[in-house]
Amino acid sequence: MQRRQMRLLFFALPLIAMVIHRAAPAGSAAAPAPVDLLVRGGTVVTMDGARRVIDDGAVAVKGGKIVAVGTRAEVERRFAAREVIDATGRVVMPGLINGHTHVPMTLFRGLADDLDLNEWLTKYIFPAEAKNVTEEFVRAGTRLGLAEMIRGGTTTYCDMYYFEDAIADETARAGMRGVLGETVIDFPVADNKTHEEAMAYVERFVAKWKNNKLITPAIAPHAPYTVSEAHLRNIREFSRRTGATVVIHVAETRKEVDDITRDHGASPFAYLARIGFLTDKMIAAHGVFANEEEIAAIKRAGVGVVHNPQSNMKLASGVAPVPQYLKADVSLGLGTDGAASNNDLSMWEEMDTAAKLHKLTSGDPKVVTALEALEMATVRGARALHLDGVTGSLETGKRADLIVVDMDDLSQLPLYNVYSHLVYATKAADVRTVVVEGRVLMRDRRLLTLDEESIKREARAWRERVARSLAPAGPAGAAAEAGAKRPPARKTPRRKNRRG
Ligand SMILES: [Zn+2]
Repeated sequence: MQRRQMRLLFFALPLIAMVIHRAAPAGSAAAPAPVDLLVRGGTVVTMDGARRVIDDGAVAVKGGKIVAVGTRAEVERRFAAREVIDATGRVVMPGLINGHTHVPMTLFRGLADDLDLNEWLTKYIFPAEAKNVTEEFVRAGTRLGLAEMIRGGTTTYCDMYYFEDAIADETARAGMRGVLGETVIDFPVADNKTHEEAMAYVERFVAKWKNNKLITPAIAPHAPYTVSEAHLRNIREFSRRTGATVVIHVAETRKEVDDITRDHGASPFAYLARIGFLTDKMIAAHGVFANEEEIAAIKRAGVGVVHNPQSNMKLASGVAPVPQYLKADVSLGLGTDGAASNNDLSMWEEMDTAAKLHKLTSGDPKVVTALEALEMATVRGARALHLDGVTGSLETGKRADLIVVDMDDLSQLPLYNVYSHLVYATKAADVRTVVVEGRVLMRDRRLLTLDEESIKREARAWRERVARSLAPAGPAGAAAEAGAKRPPARKTPRRKNRRG
């Protein structure tokens, strides 16, 4: 009996193999292929090339990558997952991209508002930074900012600050994607005291993180008015040699334009173009002042520009020529800037503001449509950060960075147009679930990689330390001062232009 069974199996095996082999490519008869995660049901807003919106759609994820986007029926026929997220009645869309932050500055949120730039900086932000910015501060502020961003549906952010290696560490632990730039500036700061020290730091930093899936290490010269031409040339060479992304503030205020014109005989973008600084590795925050010729040069060079409407409004910096950037098809992203000048990290508010601000200032309600604002926060924002092959849309082959958004708040009903609702009626609190690189970072509004309660406790404790450090002389103020690092003597006068 045994031998007969064996013989039967012997003949049957090739037959079974043949059937499987023939069935598999056809797809329909085969068992669904295993994937890690299936997000199914709901309206899938893909932001792909055709801007497909799929009702009752699904997204399949394997190994951190999107392997299918389509109707639920079609995707479920082909794939079965270990983990399923039901998005019925909700929107599934690419995670938002915050193109400009100084994430630890969340700990300075609301420290001082409604002041002119110079007073705000010299009386509050610089002293607060000089007395408080340590690696410990940076880590606590980063965790707070990451938690806020994840809760608001941001899956990628671009940062510029000090101790960026610690920021990268916290970001990778939390599972978020980041283009993270270590600040290089021509005066001593918390982590590096000279240009050479800063360049050595960046060399180590870029080498350490360059193969990380989530982190794009970058070099961040603060601005053309705080970094000399010789140092900018060094930085350009460093980027050329290592391929590192360059993050910089450019043309943020009228004063910057006047000062650069006086010192270099050209406006900020024209000056940077002249020294070969405009490249397809560069991300320029603000770009409030750029003429037609400069916009053409930005487009030609492949520079990413990040618009920060709320920060520009709060500090009365000016209005970036966003309709002109869009017309020229510049890679234009959207950012919140640091929480000290915004005062939150909500990309929903930033989209809403971007769509409205330019209508007001141009007198044309047709400029910066809801869809264009959403593009700036997703697919166009990814291009601005030079991550367009990686994230920014829901397409097969891209990394799985997606969010599930509730659509049944009173302020979202009824629903006629999904783009309109996402830009004009949706808030950070409507984000329900967040996935980055295929990993669920928030599920049903509960953070899975960060401890919200301990982050809140730390933020409140830092509030006491920062407030004490700024207290006028007296027993409490003196005690706080004694424990704090003295600011470098040159700091305040040389930094009078700087803002977070
Ligand atoms: Zn900034």
